Amino acid sequence: MSLSLFADDVLFLQRLLRAEGLYLDDLDGDWGPNTEKAVMEFEERSNQIINETGKFDSRSERNIQTLSLKAQREARLFLGRLTEAGINARIISGTRTYAEQNKLFRQGRFGNPGNIVTNARGGFSNHNFCIAWDIGIFTEQGGYLSDGPQYDKAARIGISERIEWGGNWKKIVDKPHYQVKLNIAISELRNLFENGRPIAGFKDES
Ligand SMILES: [Zn+2]
Repeated sequence: MSLSLFADDVLFLQRLLRAEGLYLDDLDGDWGPNTEKAVMEFEERSNQIINETGKFDSRSERNIQTLSLKAQREARLFLGRLTEAGINARIISGTRTYAEQNKLFRQGRFGNPGNIVTNARGGFSNHNFCIAWDIGIFTEQGGYLSDGPQYDKAARIGISERIEWGGNWKKIVDKPHYQVKLNIAISELRNLFENGRPIAGFKDES
């Protein structure tokens, strides 16, 4: 299920669950009964959101399920709007744990193979806090479009007042990128997340 993705990083999982207000125990990285209980509650709420907003292709599903509950809802509503408009979009990435982000950061650096794909170390990407997703748009034949006017169209149709689009960013324009609007800086978000504080914007208000 969803959180099997974080099963090898229990500390990261516990931070997410605490940010959601579902886990009140220590951030100790140990999978105990309270972690288990919180995971079950999280999954139950994820399933409720699926029931209300619909299910998508398996790749999108895999990525959506790595998001906070609030982001899951927004991502599903967003993808639903695109689908309805006939845009063949999928969510091709969601949350990366700090360890996964660091691995990505090392790519193309320090003698490692591949191209440099990110300037963010673990804890410095919006994708490290369960609020962000990237889309890929595909042709009818299934070919991946890395760029183009379809991405602008997707934003026009997809975003709501609760979603921020990377295409509107000033420094690095990132058109495939979307995230839940939280009205706090990433440094503050990191601080809350790492210290196991509930994060208001994570709560599913509906
Ligand atoms: Zn992104």
